[in-house]
Amino acid sequence: MITELPSHIRELADGEIFHFNCHPGIDCFTDCCRELELALTPYDVLRLRKELKLSSAEFLEQYCLVEYDEEDLFPRVYLGMVDDGKASCPFVTKKGCTVYGGRPGACRIYPLGRGASRNLFGQNKIIHILLTEPHCHGFSEPDQQTIQTWTIDQGLESYNRLNDEMMTILQHVEIKNGIKLSRDQQQLFLNTLYNLDGFLEKNPNLEADDDEALLKHAIHWLKNKLFV
Ligand code: SF4
Ligand code: SF4
Repeated sequence: MITELPSHIRELADGEIFHFNCHPGIDCFTDCCRELELALTPYDVLRLRKELKLSSAEFLEQYCLVEYDEEDLFPRVYLGMVDDGKASCPFVTKKGCTVYGGRPGACRIYPLGRGASRNLFGQNKIIHILLTEPHCHGFSEPDQQTIQTWTIDQGLESYNRLNDEMMTILQHVEIKNGIKLSRDQQQLFLNTLYNLDGFLEKNPNLEADDDEALLKHAIHWLKNKLFV
């Protein structure tokens, strides 16, 4: 159970109905694609660079900002916003998202949030929250949604699978025990998971056309490297 959530955020139960939809006819259409901080997961980068037909290195170079914060164990990769006074996403137009088929998981799941925590037996506990932010008018739409229908509608299954796989690193028992990573290990995290083309070059025996399997393999490989 989550406690002390802001008033516009509440936990959502499996099967619980909420009213929501998002489409070009809504007056706030694309407002949420501006003035946002969009952290990208390795699977987000994989999908976006495929959508844009770029290599991983090209995508990272052209669209991403990497931050190494003293407080964080792992580097964070953000989508660089456009300097247009509104900090717009580089992929937003009046007609909507130009990378819709490869849009990040955070764009898909909104107005839900999904949190996973991993216990000592390697089981993930999943919770969902609903964010009813006043600027979003999608809640006035009559469409009934549940976590399950929204997950399917937004094509989130593969994003959830890979994010859960990432938990095997991000919430590894060694992390919970307070392990610190060197800058070289942080760089290895970035190079392995966010530059999968580079990882594939070093492992030519892997299947290049099965993205999910490739990223899972990279996660497993990295886990063995970081936590021996
Ligand atoms: S603010 Fe809400 S309804 Fe408006 S475009 Fe964004 S998600 Fe859709
Ligand atoms: S990727 Fe698409 S949906 Fe996500 S913020 Fe950018 S334009 Fe909006």
